[in-house]
Amino acid sequence: MSAPVELVFAAPRRGKPPRHLADLTPTERREALVALGEPAYRARQLSTHYFGRYVEDPAEMTDLPAAAHDRIVEGVLPRLLTQVRTLAADGGTTVKMLWRLFDGALVESVLMRYPGRVTMCVSSQAGCGMACPFCATGQAGLTRNLSAAEIVGQVVAGSRMLARGEIAGGPGRVSNVVFMGMGEPLANYKTVISAVRRLTDPVPDGLGMSQRGVTVSTVGLVPRIKQLTEEGLAVTLAVSLHAPDDELRDELVPVNTRWKVAEVLDAAWEYADRTRRRVSIEYALIRDINDQAWRADLLGTLLAGRLVHVNLIPLNPTPGSKWTASRPEDEAEFVRRLEAHGVPVTVRDTRGREIDGACGQLAAKDS
Ligand code: SAH
Repeated sequence: MSAPVELVFAAPRRGKPPRHLADLTPTERREALVALGEPAYRARQLSTHYFGRYVEDPAEMTDLPAAAHDRIVEGVLPRLLTQVRTLAADGGTTVKMLWRLFDGALVESVLMRYPGRVTMCVSSQAGCGMACPFCATGQAGLTRNLSAAEIVGQVVAGSRMLARGEIAGGPGRVSNVVFMGMGEPLANYKTVISAVRRLTDPVPDGLGMSQRGVTVSTVGLVPRIKQLTEEGLAVTLAVSLHAPDDELRDELVPVNTRWKVAEVLDAAWEYADRTRRRVSIEYALIRDINDQAWRADLLGTLLAGRLVHVNLIPLNPTPGSKWTASRPEDEAEFVRRLEAHGVPVTVRDTRGREIDGACGQLAAKDS
């Protein structure tokens, strides 16, 4: 008898990341522990260790029977992120972490400490399929979606370093998470939503962060923005616009050929109306490409009177790129014109530039 068709055609299995506590809702955790032959209350014990104390090694959990350690690690606490490299800048207040995942994929996160807050920039995919020509991650294409636990694990790792006083400035907590690392979060929609819930559910179900402290940044996948509007989450939506006109945006953000500037902005205003959250418009200023005064005026016209904030990002040129950041006088004029339209605008700092940890530089090339 010949082998079943499924076996003959089975590709070498790359598989999914192993299941982890942080992939599961509290109910699913109890079910998983019971299925492992553990009492249901074990789920809450483990959650308290992981989400409340950032401990993931059962050997450090003194309330667990030693005989259960291996079973628990294998069942719900596999090691998902292996630290390959950590690079610090800005006097140790910016830390870039390079992680290797179970299948060898590499992703990066960046922790940035400011007076009064700590922001972690996390990856939602290994690579990215959106192909924006100015972005380092976009050049390499998409490897795969991350799991919720792989996303949450980046924040837990940063939280642990902070709690243990390993970050300059003393012990602290992660107050903000921005989905501005590698990947397009709304292309990994369900998983990103579940990660947001893990980040914001109260301890011990989750990390207990404020929903308002979370920013989801997108190239503008309109159906997904609409879906996000219905989630009832108070997260900040950031839209990577980069051009106010379709002709240029088709080139800078290729998905614009599918969803145009007007559609993306309409979806953003609907989000703002429903959530009463100010939408953030991301705009990388690229010399002589999108930084002309007339484009500032056009952008100002599109955004005037809306619940919006513009984040101008001086372009971080990627290796081999023909593009570079705007001249200071053009940047200043761009700001001035937006302000003249009454649009709130700030120029983002370029933290972590020298460790390739700044916006758009995360490429995980240096395994
Ligand atoms: N895919 C999502 C989130 C990841 S990128 C998105 O596009 O929004 C986070 C932000 O960094 C986006 O606004 C992105 O356009 C911007 N960015 C990418 N490459 C950059 C570069 N080289 N210089 C400045 N900003 C960049």
